[in-house]
Amino acid sequence: MSFESLGLCAELLSAIATQGYTTPTPIQTQAIPVVFEGCDLLAGAQTGTGKTAAFALPIVQRLSEKVPVEKRRRPRALVLVPTRELAAQVSDQMQNYGRRLSLRSTMIYGGVNIQAQIERLHRGVDIVVATPGRLLDHLERGTINLSRIEFLVLDEADRMLDLGFIDDILQVAESLPARRQTLLFSATYSPNIKKLADELLDAPRRIEV
Ligand code: AMP
Repeated sequence: MSFESLGLCAELLSAIATQGYTTPTPIQTQAIPVVFEGCDLLAGAQTGTGKTAAFALPIVQRLSEKVPVEKRRRPRALVLVPTRELAAQVSDQMQNYGRRLSLRSTMIYGGVNIQAQIERLHRGVDIVVATPGRLLDHLERGTINLSRIEFLVLDEADRMLDLGFIDDILQVAESLPARRQTLLFSATYSPNIKKLADELLDAPRRIEV
């Protein structure tokens, strides 16, 4: 299996080559086609498996196909992550791939002044990578509009549950369109992950790597 045969566009193939990736990892081989098909996904994947590119690549490509550059402004993809560190890693990848296709990505997390985040959101972004608590803060202040979200990713969902983010996640999900594609990544599969998946995913494909 090659990145070319997964249907990725020339701009992203070039980004991948620059990163030095030559072969897709198993999670990439399995998840990328599911995202292109438009199905929800429940993926069991540890960190270090290449899961970030597995969702970032196809989401960036789909977003770039749908709306011409001049019409982009409101976030259409939301990635929820447990920590600021993971937010930074995922956001770096999104930015790296997104800029090849003129998509803008930003990072929202707590423990820092909110004003700079508000200004960035106001200028317009396509992709938001966020920790749940601070995202909720923006929703309550009305400084983010999630009514155009087409892709929701829950990354390291088990860690988000461990950190007590369940209510925040469910509250964020309530402000998203029901018609969307949802991808859940978790290193472990517990009854609580199953409950979250039942709540947020629609007939998901299951992948285990
Ligand atoms: P992740 O699981 O997304 O945190 O990725 C783990 C590490 O694997 C990161 O350092 C990535 O840059 C790297 N990586 C992801 N996909 C590939 C690939 N197809 N080939 C080589 N390295 C990769």
